[in-house]
Amino acid sequence: MAEETETTIKNLSPDICVIGGGSAGLSVAAGAAAFGAPVVLIERDRMGGDCLNHGCVPSKALIAAARHAHAVREAAAFGVIAGEPVIDFEKVHAHVQSVIAAIAPNDSVERFTAMGVRIIKAEARFLDADTVEAGGFSIRARRFVIATGSSTILPPIPGLAELDYLTNESLFDLKRLPEHLLIIGAGPVGLEMAQAHRRLGAKVTVIDVREALSGEDTELARIVTDRLRGEGITLFENTHVLAAGQTAHGVWLQCENGRGAHMVEGSTVLLAAGRRGNTAGLDLAVAGIRETARGIAVDRRLRTDNRRVYAIGDVAGGPQFTHMAGYHASRVLREILFRLPARENRDIIPRAIFTDPEIASVGLCEDEARRRFGHVDVLRWPYSENDRAQAERATTGLIKIIAGRGGRVLGVSIVGTGAAEMINMWQMVIANGQGLRHVRNVIAPYPTMTEIGKRAVIAYYTPMTRKPFVRAIIRFLRRFG
Ligand SMILES: Cc1cc2nc3c(=O)[nH]c(=O)nc-3n(C[C@H](O)[C@H](O)[C@H](O)COP(=O)(O)OP(=O)(O)OC[C@H]3O[C@@H](n4cnc5c(N)ncnc54)[C@H](O)[C@@H]3O)c2cc1C
Repeated sequence: MAEETETTIKNLSPDICVIGGGSAGLSVAAGAAAFGAPVVLIERDRMGGDCLNHGCVPSKALIAAARHAHAVREAAAFGVIAGEPVIDFEKVHAHVQSVIAAIAPNDSVERFTAMGVRIIKAEARFLDADTVEAGGFSIRARRFVIATGSSTILPPIPGLAELDYLTNESLFDLKRLPEHLLIIGAGPVGLEMAQAHRRLGAKVTVIDVREALSGEDTELARIVTDRLRGEGITLFENTHVLAAGQTAHGVWLQCENGRGAHMVEGSTVLLAAGRRGNTAGLDLAVAGIRETARGIAVDRRLRTDNRRVYAIGDVAGGPQFTHMAGYHASRVLREILFRLPARENRDIIPRAIFTDPEIASVGLCEDEARRRFGHVDVLRWPYSENDRAQAERATTGLIKIIAGRGGRVLGVSIVGTGAAEMINMWQMVIANGQGLRHVRNVIAPYPTMTEIGKRAVIAYYTPMTRKPFVRAIIRFLRRFG
């Protein structure tokens, strides 16, 4: 690597210095290098960050293995008799690691060096408002981009810190399936991992201080949690963990909810109760950069209090997604390379939770849309009325479309098989300020689940069905017919 051989060069003055080689930082570095801007990227650990090494990639690979196990169990409904699957967890682990290895070259030092990015493998910290130090280099850049990601929060539960707990950084290293996995946190990460481990044969208990998937539409979240309970996951909602400790063979959690106190025992515990931006060791204060409870304080242009420094991705404290990190990167590149102000617009960012059924949404939820616009129309269509869903025996789910004046699409939520793929069309509609009439023109191949959204829109445009008394009759027939 260049920095190891050129020991005499201690001062660097690139156009852009990026701290963190995860989804956000790599996107900035690649984009800047493509436009010929001199870039230094500092990464203290593995290139690719959380998404590649401890997040999206291994979790989706594990979910894929679990889906195969589940399909074997469910095969009898299709007339295919297979029985209980045999899980070789070492091979599951090997599958997960091989998926990481297959993608890793895209994020490698070699690839980025070939693009013209200078990589420094070291921990970065600010020396003053204009200078960062890393690996013996002193870097004064025109602009700095902090993209240091986030880490699992350790909840302040007495006894928890002393346990050999798991986080997303250690979970995918396991070569043996936990016998009984206790998960603190019923958000996307907690529930995705709960279902994957359950389907691979573990006993799973999830505990959350609030409702499960509390950031999602309650109706949609309920459909997912009903399925998880149906698959044998124990889920304690609105439950506090008061203390934790070690048993002879595992761990215990002392819990309390509206029905009183109880003890939960398992073999190991996974923490998934929130994440905070990685700021420790950066010495942000000396650079005049303010922090919040979630990470670094930024404005809508992702600028920190130090006008030379941007913060993007998870560390900026907003929604934590890889595509958000990529979007942030495109925003700051616009600002840094072309000096064009680029504001973040969260209303066009899709969200996806990869449980089965999946939940995906974009734009405003119903409550937020009513708050901002007053009257809105809510269009719905169930999976059970879609022919492809029937053929796949995947009839659980629905789409909810929130439409404003003139049929402008304000928000869409989908729960059901393939929701994360189906939301793409709606993201485009919302990002381009389009309305229901644009979706009316979509011709979806038959039979596909994309038709579910189109059917909801056609129902909206069918004049008779828009009359209140006809709607009441349809509702009556749906419920009692
Ligand atoms: C289990 C799990 C599953 C997920 N699944 C999905 C999913 O399906 N879809 C999705 O969109 N998102 C998913 N996410 C979220 C996604 O992983 C993150 O939003 C994304 O990785 C954020 O990218 P980032 O670049 O901001 O941070 P990161 O990818 O974490 O990169 C930050 C990098 O900065 C480095 N760094 C930190 N401090 C320093 C320092 N001082 N000096 C030098 N380097 C430093 C770190 O080593 C790291 O490599 C998941 C997350 C988890 C935990």
